[in-house]
Amino acid sequence: FDMFFLAFVERLFRPTFKKDDFVLGKKLGEGAFGVVYRASLTKKPSSKKEGDFVLKKATEYGAVEIWMNERVRRACANSCAVFVHGFLESSSKKGAEYWLLWRYEGEATLYDFMRSKEFPYNVETMILGEVQDLPKGLERENIIIQTIMRQLLFALDGLHSTGIVHRDFKPQNIIFSEGSRTFKIIDLGAAADLRVGINYIPKEFLLDPRYAAPEQYIMSTQTPSAPSAPVATALSPVLWQMNLPDRFDIYSAGLIFLQMAFPGLRSDSGLIQFNRQLKRCDYDLIAWRKSVETRASSDIRRGFELLDLDGGIGWELLTLMVRYKAGQRISAKGALAHPYFDREGLLVLSFMQ
Ligand code: ADP
Ligand code: MG
Repeated sequence: FDMFFLAFVERLFRPTFKKDDFVLGKKLGEGAFGVVYRASLTKKPSSKKEGDFVLKKATEYGAVEIWMNERVRRACANSCAVFVHGFLESSSKKGAEYWLLWRYEGEATLYDFMRSKEFPYNVETMILGEVQDLPKGLERENIIIQTIMRQLLFALDGLHSTGIVHRDFKPQNIIFSEGSRTFKIIDLGAAADLRVGINYIPKEFLLDPRYAAPEQYIMSTQTPSAPSAPVATALSPVLWQMNLPDRFDIYSAGLIFLQMAFPGLRSDSGLIQFNRQLKRCDYDLIAWRKSVETRASSDIRRGFELLDLDGGIGWELLTLMVRYKAGQRISAKGALAHPYFDREGLLVLSFMQ
């Protein structure tokens, strides 16, 4: 079958919705470009009282977010929360308002888990199930963190292979899917689809500075200026190779890895302070380690100990992700093939036997 035919058939039979089909529940989030609610269908009383859907009412940027979600749905569905439908709700007094609907994946983001003192143990049974004979202490934490990192990189690899850069990859935008027991990416509101040249974010758009790589604008010189609607302008895959815009997300993923290893970096102030220190070290993670290790608290020493397990392969992977030059950062696919994940695979396999 032709791919486009299949996509067309899929689109034809997928349920479509309109405004009046939904009752809004709890507000889940509010940003500069939209409000997010939990929602349920009015007609069919849903199984869950609070609602089976998540609804985002977005401003004009919603058009691009719908485009990204449709593309993800066809090309790398497992990477992101399941997208149900997106439509323009023009009757609103506020002018154009886009409605986007996803399946409700679960109640917690990686941010919610990381905020708890229990992290990473509060994730353990959710992603590993009831595994017997897990080692204790650091080794156990390491296995949980490896599993989370593998899931994040798997999801990123899917996006990047599709030609999409997320650009706002952070714990708040990573939802735990209770159905599939994996972390999935959400919030494609700042994403760029470089294969067709959709890069809608205006120059003044502020990427989250806490997780942003030092290069502010991906493909800053070659990128065509922002179209006013999703317009396909051919962009060579060669350009993608040259600029490696996907490495922007890898830097953010590296910072999340760091936050998982060092509890002190999980707070806003801790992360901001780390960013300042790293900048002072010219974004050299090894120099940063030298500068903090001598006067390190027991918490920090414990973080290095965790990353130093198994001959320091965790630390090595981290240093391949958090680098100043995008071109020197490892790709998501490359990271998944890194020996850091070999041992985890062996361990988990041996537990399942
Ligand atoms: P924004 O950051 O623009 O407000 P997001 O798309 O990140 O919008 O969604 C806001 C919040 O809503 C998320 O942080 C998450 O808590 C929740 N959320 C979003 N999508 C889902 C989903 N599919 N399932 C469950 N919760 C979700
Ligand atoms: Mg968000």
